[in-house]
Amino acid sequence: MPTAPAADQLRLLDVQDADLRIQQAEHRRATLPVLAQLEALAAEDAELEVEAIARGTEASDLRREVTKAEDDVQAVRSRKERDEGRLAAGGSNAKDLQALQGELEVLTRRLSDLEDIELEVMERLENAERVEDAVKARRAEIATRRGELEQELAVEEQAIDEQVADAKAERVRAAEGIDAALVSLYERLRDQHGGVGAAALQGSQCLGCHMSLNPADLRAIEAAAPDQVVRCEECGRILVRKD
Ligand SMILES: [Zn+2]
Repeated sequence: MPTAPAADQLRLLDVQDADLRIQQAEHRRATLPVLAQLEALAAEDAELEVEAIARGTEASDLRREVTKAEDDVQAVRSRKERDEGRLAAGGSNAKDLQALQGELEVLTRRLSDLEDIELEVMERLENAERVEDAVKARRAEIATRRGELEQELAVEEQAIDEQVADAKAERVRAAEGIDAALVSLYERLRDQHGGVGAAALQGSQCLGCHMSLNPADLRAIEAAAPDQVVRCEECGRILVRKD
């Protein structure tokens, strides 16, 4: 059984306390709620970016369709106007005039159909542009919110970093001059036992695992010399006797 001065064993509890505070602060830093909010916004923005590209492509395709529909309407309208001019000028024989009137009827129907198509494509374009604008607006909102949250994060991280720095300085002070073998045993146990390598014995209870020692073990521990490093029979941690 290793030995270390009783005073060093007692100071180990301060080292343990500082180590726990470092570990807890680092855990808090890694799990700040603002980090989850930022992550959710980044995911939403990534989806919207895909959506924005799709809507942008759709809108530019529709703009081309609108141009084509306008050209089609214009072509038929010109032809119709030319025919109307010829009809008004008169001078043709009855058979030609009849043919002209027949063509005008066809052109009028065709123009009406093409104008319907033009209108429908323009409506689709408006819808696509509306969605595109909404996506852009939401992305701008997200960018603003992310900026605010980044600032919040920086403030919270800085506060925690200060706590960590304080706890680390305290850890150095607490560990200074303690028996090196005791510290290295503590560190090994700490790694193995979720951050707690040394615990106080309170009454018959180990404050590391919160189990009560059986009377025989307790008697053996109480009988051990103060500089004997004793371990909890239940969890294996260094058990520090405080009195
Ligand atoms: Zn224990």
